[in-house]
Amino acid sequence: MVKLNNNVEIPELGLGVYKIEDADVERVVHTAIDAGYRAIDTAWFYKNEKALGTALKTLNINREDLFITTKLWMTDYGRENVQSAYEASLKRLGLDYVDLYLIHWPGQDKDLITETWKAMENLYNEGKIKNIGVSNFHVHHLEELLQEASIKPVINQIECHPYLTQKELRAYLEAQKIVAQSWSPLMNGQILEDEVVKEIANELGKTPAQVIIRWNIDENIVVIPKSVTPSRIEENLNVFDFELSE
Ligand code: NDP
Repeated sequence: MVKLNNNVEIPELGLGVYKIEDADVERVVHTAIDAGYRAIDTAWFYKNEKALGTALKTLNINREDLFITTKLWMTDYGRENVQSAYEASLKRLGLDYVDLYLIHWPGQDKDLITETWKAMENLYNEGKIKNIGVSNFHVHHLEELLQEASIKPVINQIECHPYLTQKELRAYLEAQKIVAQSWSPLMNGQILEDEVVKEIANELGKTPAQVIIRWNIDENIVVIPKSVTPSRIEENLNVFDFELSE
């Protein structure tokens, strides 16, 4: 588990569900939960919140043992829209709260983001959301936001993998006590073809995906690989019995 700046804990590894078709969601979610996943990352934009909600209902697991993330899309930014967008997400998900709600993209309108963040803060203060954060924010977006914010984002979800280490941004996040979470950690599978990664995997008797996921965990990056393939879903979680050398 990784501790957020408000002392809430998030599993270091979760399942991303971008581009998982509705028809596959229930099977994938059951496979993941049976394997031991407890965190799931979706978004309004993925159009599978409803299918995820249907799947969640069929799980034999306590709600407080799950960590569900969804994200606010740009068309719902602004003071008036956030609460209704959040409530619509909750309805689709069949939940009465989400564990983490993220502003999906910073966009270009600083005032609109500030307003949106304030509305997120209200929902957080009212206890309706457990944690609030952002996604795809650069240092300058965060600097602007932090000038106006009463509550710090707990997470910034960003594209991150060994081909895009985001060193500078991550140093800033660490200084601000904002956890980095990586999207497309496997570069949609591309990085698994890298010869160095393959070599390391061979040496360790692990797979390239396991090496890359372990790299994230060692770097204190919360990681959410996506797969619809049962063997891969299990493989991607099986990263706690080896270490990477420097
Ligand atoms: P990933 O980097 O997780 O890669 C997923 C791809 O890799 C799929 O094609 C999958 O195939 C394949 N794969 C998964 N595991 C293995 C394995 N062990 N061996 C070989 N291939 C494997 O891509 P995503 O873009 O889905 O990123 C992960 C999550 O991040 C998303 O699902 C979403 O939740 C989030 N995200 C957030 C964004 C944002 O803007 N905040 C943007 C993009 C993603 P298969 O499924 O066929 O098994």
